[in-house]
Amino acid sequence: MSIRLQNIAKHFGNTQALEPINLDIHQGELVGLLGPSGSGKTTLLRIIAGLENPDLATQSGKILFGDRDVTNVHVRDRRIGFVFQHYALFHHMSVYDNVAFGLTVLSRKRRPSSGEIRARVHRLLEMVKLEHLANRYPAQLSGGQQQRVSLARALAVEPEVLLLDEPFGALDAKVRQELRRWLRHLHDEFNFTSVFVTHDQEEALELSDRVVVMSDGRIEQIDTPDELYREPKNRFVFEFLGDVNHLEGKVTNGVLTCGDAYWHVDLPDGHQELLLRPHEVRLTEQPTSESHLPVTITAISPVGAEVRVELEADWLAQPWLATVRHTDFEHMALRRGQRLYAHPRHWRRFPETESKTAEQSRVA
Ligand code: ADP
Ligand code: MG
Repeated sequence: MSIRLQNIAKHFGNTQALEPINLDIHQGELVGLLGPSGSGKTTLLRIIAGLENPDLATQSGKILFGDRDVTNVHVRDRRIGFVFQHYALFHHMSVYDNVAFGLTVLSRKRRPSSGEIRARVHRLLEMVKLEHLANRYPAQLSGGQQQRVSLARALAVEPEVLLLDEPFGALDAKVRQELRRWLRHLHDEFNFTSVFVTHDQEEALELSDRVVVMSDGRIEQIDTPDELYREPKNRFVFEFLGDVNHLEGKVTNGVLTCGDAYWHVDLPDGHQELLLRPHEVRLTEQPTSESHLPVTITAISPVGAEVRVELEADWLAQPWLATVRHTDFEHMALRRGQRLYAHPRHWRRFPETESKTAEQSRVA
């Protein structure tokens, strides 16, 4: 089921939780709503669900599911499955009864036969690998297992739209990873349309077909994870999607200076601020005639695919972060307290003017 939001806005008293928003979600898509706390993600999700009414003042505001205008349709009649951060399972009901619940409360006309309900619940429990725990109660399950029950319960009524609000937020990193795979798998198998809320950029980029980046009740950008990461539309998106180093200084005749540090760069004269990702910083033992940005290693974290190196310099306000390959790390014998030189490989500049595109440059 495709979802179209047209000119949807929301106030709570004087707080504008959402500015007028337009959003098209395609049939079968898994879309992530990503943004910091308070950016309006939950409000947007609840409006899609019908749990919250959009502002009536914006007369043209409309929500369509496929061709059907559901703006005034009750949540009960929108065929939606929900998963929330806090499992919201019924604690006095077994796993089996929790999953069956949505089916047993359907009106007689729509309710499947009891044999059919049994078969469907067993199939769902099998899919989330919890059949052997069907008779347990929620309190006897781990957080990850409870969230799998929540997923199965949401899917029991065969929703056309699945909405999830920070579904994995309360779980530890490893279980979260596993549940993301479950969600992706179930989404692809059932072919419904999913919208999930997260404030975790890694989760959004890993799981979504497209990501909607939000801040202050606005949509900043809607794109695939790849496009978003490569072509952030503005500074907010760039900074929200990962670690960022700032290089700020005065440019005169093609040389940026910052205290005693300097760097040759092809930019107009005046104050300039450049942003670069940790993997865009190269570290060497000697400066060059073009580049003299001395730094000192303050911390090293060798966990993961690359080594993260924290850097400090008296000409820098904030610490810098560089990532280096394990082989380079060993080869250079990097250690805390070591003096090195940083070289920007690639940088971006987001002029303060409302120009939509960032400037970027690759440095040889
Ligand atoms: P997010 O889910 O991105 O953290 P929310 O959608 O919950 O953000 O909130 C967006 C803004 O709307 C916040 O400023 C929040 O305080 C406000 N807000 C949300 N729900 C209500 C409510 N029921 N009453 C008043 N203000 C609310
Ligand atoms: Mg929220």
